Amino acid sequence: MAVPQNKVTKSRRGMRRAHDSLTAANPAECPNCGELKRPHHVCPSCGHYAEREVVAQADEIDLDEDAA
Ligand SMILES: [Zn+2]
Repeated sequence: MAVPQNKVTKSRRGMRRAHDSLTAANPAECPNCGELKRPHHVCPSCGHYAEREVVAQADEIDLDEDAA
């Protein structure tokens, strides 16, 4: 089993972990539906980008439709 050759001091460990923090997401309101969305991404709830529809949204999937 590999064993560390030297003890990692509290200082060294802290210096390594100084870059581990996560940055918070920066959600922006969709100008079409008002839902929060990621900036520079298509709105997942209405499929709009820059106030025009780029992804058509299915109204509702009826699972019983094909069974009949
Ligand atoms: Zn939207």
